[in-house]
Amino acid sequence: MSVLIELYEEIAHCQQCEIAKYRTKVVPGEGAEDANLLFIGEAPGWHEDQQGRPFVGPAGLYLDELLASINLRREQVYIANVIKCRPTNNRDPLPVEIQACRKWLERQIELIHPKMIVTLGRYSMAMFFPGKSISRIHGTAQKQSNIIYYAIYHPAAALHQQSLRQVIEADMLKIPSLLAQAETMTEAKPQPQQLSMFEV
Ligand code: URA
Repeated sequence: MSVLIELYEEIAHCQQCEIAKYRTKVVPGEGAEDANLLFIGEAPGWHEDQQGRPFVGPAGLYLDELLASINLRREQVYIANVIKCRPTNNRDPLPVEIQACRKWLERQIELIHPKMIVTLGRYSMAMFFPGKSISRIHGTAQKQSNIIYYAIYHPAAALHQQSLRQVIEADMLKIPSLLAQAETMTEAKPQPQQLSMFEV
């Protein structure tokens, strides 16, 4: 059993937040354990809660299309969320839930050791680009401790707002060249304390 699968077991037993009581399934994340690219969404929705898998509803189908636009399948990347349980009635995650869940995401980042982290939407962006606004920084990258952090809109936002579709699709197309840059950077395993500089 891989360390990542062992981590899923731990996450499945987490009862730190009230929403844990109401989940059907916990949604730890899925994809290639050695992925270069890690996508981080917000929180599971109804479909994800039913299946225990991230991005399997309408936003997920669109994410699959976006990945296909850069010749990737979801199995080749890793997809996770800021929080691992579905907030009741699909409400926004609470700061206390984000804080309680961030240790799981930090462990995933350490284990997967991606070269590039793509944040999907403002909750995920806020973890790595504190104080920034998605409308200003989408499509821009920041390098920190050998990882490229890149913020784009959430696929669900683009589904609901037609004008964002072109924006997210253009931002997506920049990923391959950013990733190529990341791949030429020197190897150095990120230390957990380096991640703590990104406070929500
Ligand atoms: N939206 C998210 O942010 N994550 C999912 O897993 C599904 C929809």
